[in-house]
Amino acid sequence: MLYTPEPIAAIATAPGRGGVGVIRVSGRRLESIVAGLIGRPLTARHAHFARFRAADTSAIDEGLALFFPGPNSFTGEDVLEIQGHGGPVVMNMLLARCVELGARHAEPGEFSKRAFLNGKLDLAQAEAVADLIDAQSEAAARSALKSLDGAFSLEVRALVDALIHLRMLVEATLDFPEEDIDFLAAADARGQLVSIQGQLARVLMTATQGKLLREGMHVVLIGQPNVGKSSLMNALAGEDVAIVTDIAGTTRDTVREQILIDSVPVHVIDTAGLRETDDPVERIGIERTWAAVEKADLALLLIDSREGVTRHDLDILSRLPKALPVLRVFNKIDLTGDVPGDVARNVVHVSAKGGEGLDALRLRLLHHVGWQGCEEGVFIARERHLDAIRRASAHLDTAVEAYQQIEIFAEELRLAQNALNEITGEFTSDDLLGVIFSKFCIGK
Ligand code: GDP
Repeated sequence: MLYTPEPIAAIATAPGRGGVGVIRVSGRRLESIVAGLIGRPLTARHAHFARFRAADTSAIDEGLALFFPGPNSFTGEDVLEIQGHGGPVVMNMLLARCVELGARHAEPGEFSKRAFLNGKLDLAQAEAVADLIDAQSEAAARSALKSLDGAFSLEVRALVDALIHLRMLVEATLDFPEEDIDFLAAADARGQLVSIQGQLARVLMTATQGKLLREGMHVVLIGQPNVGKSSLMNALAGEDVAIVTDIAGTTRDTVREQILIDSVPVHVIDTAGLRETDDPVERIGIERTWAAVEKADLALLLIDSREGVTRHDLDILSRLPKALPVLRVFNKIDLTGDVPGDVARNVVHVSAKGGEGLDALRLRLLHHVGWQGCEEGVFIARERHLDAIRRASAHLDTAVEAYQQIEIFAEELRLAQNALNEITGEFTSDDLLGVIFSKFCIGK
């Protein structure tokens, strides 16, 4: 085993007050923790009503205790779940008692990491656990559940199996030099490779949609005060989605808002925060905003149709990265009578107030990042996965070119397989695992 199976414990429910709070403990030999906390052994997978006791046997709380002996548990180890009253003080007292009895505080994602290391989940599935918890739309949640169920892993495994089959042919040719390129031709190695490439392209397309559901797009919003930025964001978000400011986990000093367009999260970076300042704290915020601008997909320049582009707009535009595409959105056309909708490739006319032209603008934004408007069959995915698929694809392209040079052909197929294996974690470094699981919440 790569890890120490010492018991770990964490509060599994969200911080704050709630009717019920859950503490989870995982490890080998939890008997002493059960004995110290509950005072009697627990029947596997039965709900026991129990008093949870301090060292001096006084009660800390009462509630349900459940025991899942490994390997039939989430982590594959013995798991104890304590459901007490969901107050921060009582939860912390229970957690401290578990630590007193020999558990240590779990690191973020450590339960899922153990589930992965014990073969209960592959890496893509473990990531889907975090993505389900972090889902920002119903579509993202449904797609995360698909990945958790193994839909993505299944596609990757099918590709790996096809590659292994092809590699067997090629390796046989290498091992038995009397078999030559004709042998590969007879087995239609090239045809097999083309079919794998096609399948890989389809998986990349679906995974790209999954990544959009998870990560959305980043838009830089430029516009003078009163040009209608807030009105536009509210109108784009539609009625059923509230604008989220101060998104948990993002820094307060980067001025950001988030809306959803057709299930795709759109992170809006407000350039109103980008001004000269002597305030050191504000300057850090501005630096972060610029860093976010660097990574943006699109800039949206909002213009009052009655005034056109101002000098201030041009000034901000000139400071944006040269490669950042700019979409010019003329607002308040209800006051000028301009025709709504797309009027040129990078120009859209709208009225945030009346709603004219907004559908065209939504489509423009979604098309820009490649959203195809349908979550059917989409599994959640991350940039890490897309990167692995692209690398596998590049190796296959090289393999096609090197078809006549069997050693290179074989090596490229091997590299493609390794890249795909990174997705499910069969070929992943410990460092990468550390990075992936540290992004989870504690208790998961
Ligand atoms: P911001 O400062 O850029 O965020 O602008 P606001 O969204 O607060 O809008 C400024 C003013 O313009 C408000 O009174 C809005 O009602 C008005 N406004 C915004 N969009 C439109 C529009 O499309 N047509 C008209 N007539 N007024 C608008």
